[in-house]
Amino acid sequence: MADAHKLDCEAAEADCRFIIQSEDEDEALELAQRHMKEVHGKEFSDEELREEHLQIV
Ligand SMILES: [Zn+2]
Repeated sequence: MADAHKLDCEAAEADCRFIIQSEDEDEALELAQRHMKEVHGKEFSDEELREEHLQIV
């Protein structure tokens, strides 16, 4: 079973229940960036997301 890349937005932004999970890291990063920008008005680099918010599950 492949590892999945998961971003639990609640860990980054209080009161947000958004969760991204994908076996494709690039896809997870892209979805996470889009969500952060559209919903929270914040821009994150791939590195920031990878280091601070993405979990391997
Ligand atoms: Zn969110």
